[in-house]
Amino acid sequence: AFDVLVVGGGPAGVAASVYTARKGISTGLVADRIGGQVLDTMAIENFISMPYTEGPKLAAALDQHLHEYEIDVMKGQSVASIEDDGDLKKVTTETGATLRAKQLILATGARWRRMNVPGEEEYRNKGVTFCPHCDGPLFKGKKVAVIGGGNSGVEAAIDLAGVVGHVTVLEFLDTMRADEVLQRKLKSLPNVDIVMSAATTEVLGDGKAVTGLEYTDRESGETKKLDVEGVFVQIGLLPNTEFLDGVVELNERKEIVVDARGGTSDPAIFAAGDATTEPYKQIVVAEGSGATAALGAFDASIRV
Ligand code: FAD
Repeated sequence: AFDVLVVGGGPAGVAASVYTARKGISTGLVADRIGGQVLDTMAIENFISMPYTEGPKLAAALDQHLHEYEIDVMKGQSVASIEDDGDLKKVTTETGATLRAKQLILATGARWRRMNVPGEEEYRNKGVTFCPHCDGPLFKGKKVAVIGGGNSGVEAAIDLAGVVGHVTVLEFLDTMRADEVLQRKLKSLPNVDIVMSAATTEVLGDGKAVTGLEYTDRESGETKKLDVEGVFVQIGLLPNTEFLDGVVELNERKEIVVDARGGTSDPAIFAAGDATTEPYKQIVVAEGSGATAALGAFDASIRV
């Protein structure tokens, strides 16, 4: 059995495992991929001390940092369940493999929220996408929509406006939640329209690719159509915590409730990063919370 098993290979999980390994305690890391959401992004300009880097580069650096230590890294594995096994925690992967550890650090991150409207799944990767940085260039010169007027939606729209022909941002509410500075930037762009109080009801297509979308104007109740070839869905993140129901306390958003040391409702389980109640979902924050959870777990282990 490991002293500590880290679940998740994003910035939080990698930071946690480097910190526990540096304490000289046996550390395992199980993850379906190393880098997490960092792999889905391109330009990163707020990873402090590095004025500019790119997702794949940072993900490779995370992987390399892991290999500087004796960490048993198990990639390509998804954890399906966690149970008590005497004094240990038993972790079972989707393939049925089992791992045991005295303590766990959960750092499973988050993923994009879906609209759950007709056409969204059907046209996924045929015009419907969640990753502007990955897929923006595919829509060079074309008309696209961005669903969501929060920070991620507005950032996506600003990025896309430089690549695609025209961007329409659809916001469900009658106000935008994005930071003022981002909204100002968005409104200054000549090829961007903003539609407020718009509830997207369907993604339209010709069977092969997206041709448009339908939305309800929530003020007039009218159904309207927008001709676009791309739909970028940017309506928030969902924590990857489905398998944790009944294992640790989750809040109403299904985030793992953590204290200042990364501790959860189970004294042998710590957690870090986007999967937790930590309000700011950022790389530096995730790394910091990974370090916190590792030190929290180490402190707890020497007190028993
Ligand atoms: P994640 O990065 O989500 O990593 C979670 C890990 O857990 C992954 O390895 C995943 O494979 C694994 N996992 C999940 N479930 C399981 C399971 N059941 N079993 C095993 N493994 C599992 N932040 C910034 O600071 N600056 C930016 O410029 C920036 N741009 C972004 C752009 C995009 C497009 C996206 C999507 C995010 C961006 N972020 C940015 C946010 C940043 O990427 C996240 O805050 C950060 O990656 C969170 O780290 P994490 O380790 O908590 O989770």
